[in-house]
Amino acid sequence: MVLLQGLPMERVLTCIFFEHDLRIVAIAAVICVLACFTTFLLVEQVRREPGRQRLAWLCAAAFVSGTGIWATHFIAMLAYRAHADVAYEVGPTLLSILVAIVLTGVGWWLSLSDRPVRNVAAGFTVGAGISAMHYIGMDGMIMPGHVSYAPDLVVASLVISVVLSFAALVIRKRRVVRNSLILPWPATAMFTLAICGMHFTGMGAAKMVHGPAEPLPTGAITGQGLTVAVTVMALAILAIGLVAVIAERKLQRQAAEEEQRLSSFANAAIEGLLLTDGANVKKANKSFLETAGYSDLTDCPASLAELFPALDLQQLPAMIDGTPSECELMTSAGAACPVELLVRPFGRANAGMFVLAVRDIRERKEAAARIAHLAYHDVLTGLPNRAVFADHLAATLEQSERRRVALLCLDLDGFKAVNDLYGHPVGDELLIEASRRLRDAVGEGCLVARLGGDEFAVVQTGAHQPRHAGNLADKIIATLNEPFLLQDQSVRVGCSVGIAVYPADARSASDLIKNADLALYRAKSEGGRMARFYEAAMDEAMRDRRDMEAELKLALGRDEFSVHYQPLADLEAGTIIGFEALLRWDHPVRGAISPEEFIPLAEESNYIEALGEWVLRQACAEAAGWQGGLRLSVNLSPLQFIPGNLVETVRRIVAETGMDPHRLDLEVTEGLLIREPDKAVEILRELKKLGIQISMDDFGTGYSSLSYFRVFPFDKVKIDRSFVHDMLVNPQARAIIRSVIGLGRGLEMSVVAEGVETEEQLAALKIDGCTQVQGYLISRPGPIAHFERVVLEPRTAALEKGRSGKPLRKAAGE
Ligand code: C2E
Ligand code: CA
Ligand code: CA
Repeated sequence: MVLLQGLPMERVLTCIFFEHDLRIVAIAAVICVLACFTTFLLVEQVRREPGRQRLAWLCAAAFVSGTGIWATHFIAMLAYRAHADVAYEVGPTLLSILVAIVLTGVGWWLSLSDRPVRNVAAGFTVGAGISAMHYIGMDGMIMPGHVSYAPDLVVASLVISVVLSFAALVIRKRRVVRNSLILPWPATAMFTLAICGMHFTGMGAAKMVHGPAEPLPTGAITGQGLTVAVTVMALAILAIGLVAVIAERKLQRQAAEEEQRLSSFANAAIEGLLLTDGANVKKANKSFLETAGYSDLTDCPASLAELFPALDLQQLPAMIDGTPSECELMTSAGAACPVELLVRPFGRANAGMFVLAVRDIRERKEAAARIAHLAYHDVLTGLPNRAVFADHLAATLEQSERRRVALLCLDLDGFKAVNDLYGHPVGDELLIEASRRLRDAVGEGCLVARLGGDEFAVVQTGAHQPRHAGNLADKIIATLNEPFLLQDQSVRVGCSVGIAVYPADARSASDLIKNADLALYRAKSEGGRMARFYEAAMDEAMRDRRDMEAELKLALGRDEFSVHYQPLADLEAGTIIGFEALLRWDHPVRGAISPEEFIPLAEESNYIEALGEWVLRQACAEAAGWQGGLRLSVNLSPLQFIPGNLVETVRRIVAETGMDPHRLDLEVTEGLLIREPDKAVEILRELKKLGIQISMDDFGTGYSSLSYFRVFPFDKVKIDRSFVHDMLVNPQARAIIRSVIGLGRGLEMSVVAEGVETEEQLAALKIDGCTQVQGYLISRPGPIAHFERVVLEPRTAALEKGRSGKPLRKAAGE
């Protein structure tokens, strides 16, 4: 202050280093640094706190910065050696601190804005605060003499305070934006520089002109002790501010960590979680965002009403602790997703915050719908199932009020064959396509159900019966008669329909079903591909069939069965070479029943095993005594292969009867090779090992695949009698016979033509190269007694003799 010449900078430095006690200057600087640091922490707090506490933090920041500047000034004044004893006037001193607090406070508030103008204003205001404090404080100084100022340094001090304050604010802002956790040291340094720079430049500008001592005005603040006390107070305030900020920071960090932990906990939950104030979404976990179709909370609508349009938000408090309620969540795709909501209060009671647990129940709903569908629909075709059919029929009859209701029972003809030949996948495809055609044919208003397998039912109401049921049946038969294209193959099946009409044909649902079934059975037994109406006589026929089944089981014990034999002739040698055993049932009332009739019945009632065993034993016992190597053929039903002990049974019977197995032929039909070909072939091989020969019977009637001869080396093939019957009128039949004969020759199998009835057939077969024949022309089947002479002296029983002298036919009882 004493130096008025020289460069301004030099004057300021001289002032600091020669007129101040540098130790005390250091204390002032430390106080200043602390005040600045705390101030910036507090300003940061203001920036973060959005609510009511913002003003409190702003006041604290202003108070700390104002007091800090003021304390720095006074301590620096203590360090100033060059002055005499000074005192301070109360008014300006209080004003100086007030001005510092208010102006810096305004500055901090302005600095919160993002607008550059305000930031410049902030720098200006804070700088002004520092300068105003200084010069007002100086003005309140009482000393002997007076102070005059060098204008250049005064201006410099003002500029320094404003520019450096602005710089400090800018630095702090930059750092804060980049990383909010960084401590405000650079800004603190700059602000400290602003305060100290201003002060010492201001001091450099001041010139003390000493004069005579004047008496102190009353109330003036004097003495260094007071200044020290102010300093201690300022320090205390600073310390408290610092501690408060640090504690707040720590709390904030803890809260942030806690929130982080909570949100990771919430994100780990499978269930969607939502925090709401009752109207808006405050937080949501990942699971909820996923369900709602948002990648981030910021994309998700904040309004709860928008997310849950059907939810009554007023009811949220009432839903607390209640059972989960179902509701719909609007997803980002605009779809309504069914959810289950559980509401719980969050935080303090009456805070109005709720946690909503949102469970996606789409899958559960779909599963429930699927289960419901499964319970009532056939899985394969999607048609209603038997349960639905039964309910529907019962309900329809109940509501019909004696109006007519027709029940059509349907069954595909030849479905089993398709399944056996092409496999189940093709069979399934056929059922699906047949169901579709059926539904199309029936149209709306009638129920179509799949009862199982290839059985379907149609319930027709509200039409003129029985005429309309007949028309519908014709339509169904026609559509199902069309070929099906299944896996690139054209497959044909047919359909049989049985119709019964309520109330004419039955009084109850169960009777209606039973009678439609009877009509269906009739349609099938008459060849299929037709519709039959129920008639009372069908009941009779059914009952009759059941009676016969019961009687069949008693017939063995009643000795009603016998075995007849039909000779087999060798064309070349002209001799009888063996006999086929054919079962006969002589019913005491019904008379002779054809095996074509009772063998299927025995097969259906699982009686064929016992019956087949009986025939084999009977025939073997008989043939054991035959002379000249005469052979015996016995028919086996495919069902006899199922139990698995057939080989053992045959071996036992052969042993017990003393029959030479090398003279035994067992006849099987191709049906055997369709079901379980591997198992059947295995058994056939076992039988062959016993020395028995195996014949393929009725060849040409089934699928007649040549592959049968590849899977098993048959010894003999028997051409079905229908071919022989037609061979002279139907060239195809003749061609087939010829090719089978050729096949036999190629595979070294004997070929037998069955059902030879005329000399012409015999002659033609001879021309075609057939070697063995069987038929009425040679002899009808008959009791063995009729062939006594042949079996005892076979060589004498020449075929010619048999044919011309008819001894064989006579023997057969013709
Ligand atoms: P199949 O094995 O083809 O037996 C030949 C059938 O043709 C016999 O009928 C026989 O009487 C008949 N037949 C023979 N020559 C002629 C002819 O010149 N013209 C005509 N029109 N028919 C002739 P049957 O005895 O009524 O037996 C019918 C079928 O019953 C047999 O056909 C066979 O499949 C089955 N069967 C007979 N006995 C048994 C048996 O003990 N066990 C098994 N599983 N099936 C048997
Ligand atoms: Ca046979
Ligand atoms: Ca046959």
